[in-house]
Amino acid sequence: MSKRPIVVITDFVAGGLETERRILGEIADLVALDACGEDEILDKIADADAIMMYHTVSISEKTISRLKQCKLIVRCGVGYDNVDWRLARKHGIDVCNVPDYGTEEVADSAIGMMLTLTRGIHQLNSRLREKKGEWLYKQVYPVWRLRGRVFGIIGLGRIGSAAALRAKALGMDVIFYDPYAPDGRDKALGVRRVEGLDELLAQAHVVSPHCPLTPETYHIIGKDQIAKMPKGSFLVNTSRGGVVDVTAIPDALASGQLAGAGIDVLEIEPPNDDHPLIAAWRDPNHPAYDRLVVNPHSAFYCEEGMQEMRSKGAEACRRALLGLPQRNVVN
Ligand code: NAD
Repeated sequence: MSKRPIVVITDFVAGGLETERRILGEIADLVALDACGEDEILDKIADADAIMMYHTVSISEKTISRLKQCKLIVRCGVGYDNVDWRLARKHGIDVCNVPDYGTEEVADSAIGMMLTLTRGIHQLNSRLREKKGEWLYKQVYPVWRLRGRVFGIIGLGRIGSAAALRAKALGMDVIFYDPYAPDGRDKALGVRRVEGLDELLAQAHVVSPHCPLTPETYHIIGKDQIAKMPKGSFLVNTSRGGVVDVTAIPDALASGQLAGAGIDVLEIEPPNDDHPLIAAWRDPNHPAYDRLVVNPHSAFYCEEGMQEMRSKGAEACRRALLGLPQRNVVN
């Protein structure tokens, strides 16, 4: 009797594998490792025919060199910077992602952060709870009408496009910088393309990166770029931690260069207490206390999206094991 294929789920999803079983149960055995790091999977991965991975575990040469018969590594999520996809290709292993499970939610979160900051909602709530100032709208001054203000997107892919449509619905003037977006995407969405990042920074009332983390986009926004934004503008990052050098944010908030910032993603999550951004955000005497919103990489989250991430990851494994054409291969 031939042995059933094995699908290993490395992290994040442990108990209650009904979703994966529904899709893979007839053709494969499922093993969930619930690991917290790559070293914990090394002794248990060699016989995997397909691997589903999330974000707690990275897959490097240490893992790939042990794989005997693996056909597919599926990164159940959008970013695949935590898997050595080039090396996987050399070993004949497809790497694919699940690119669309949270497109709308991340865009909703970016716009939600923008609205809570630009409308003064967060600042008013934060100050009044601390009994700072008067019970008056004037606590946050000045607030400008959003209609007609420029929303600047870096990276007009899936999430950037969804954010563009939402910002347009609010009446904003949407511009984007994306050297890789094909001509015509601007026309399809009714937004304006700019050719350089500086051109975007000079105009944008709100800057919202939606690009992947690559060597080119690492710290694409930092102290120098924030200085090129109009005084009193806003920065919202729901993309990847490394895209923004957040150490520049506390001073930018203190000087008023940034009126507010929303940060969903950090280079190291969770951050240490002495992280300069986190320390400023927790300090009632720092302007960041009232004007910075921090979330724990949660922009993607909703129950429906979580199910979709798992089921689409499992479907990719099913296609690999049945020899069907694969989707969303990134290597
Ligand atoms: P996508 O691949 O559809 O779009 C990315 C866009 O960025 C592309 O159009 C690409 O051309 C552009 N780009 C690449 N390099 C660029 C550069 N140097 N300058 C400007 N633009 C550049 O990706 P997506 O699905 O829209 O995801 C966007 C980002 O959101 C990714 O970083 C992803 O990891 C992140 N994300 C975050 C969460 C969260 O919970 N916070 C969840 C999902 C995705």
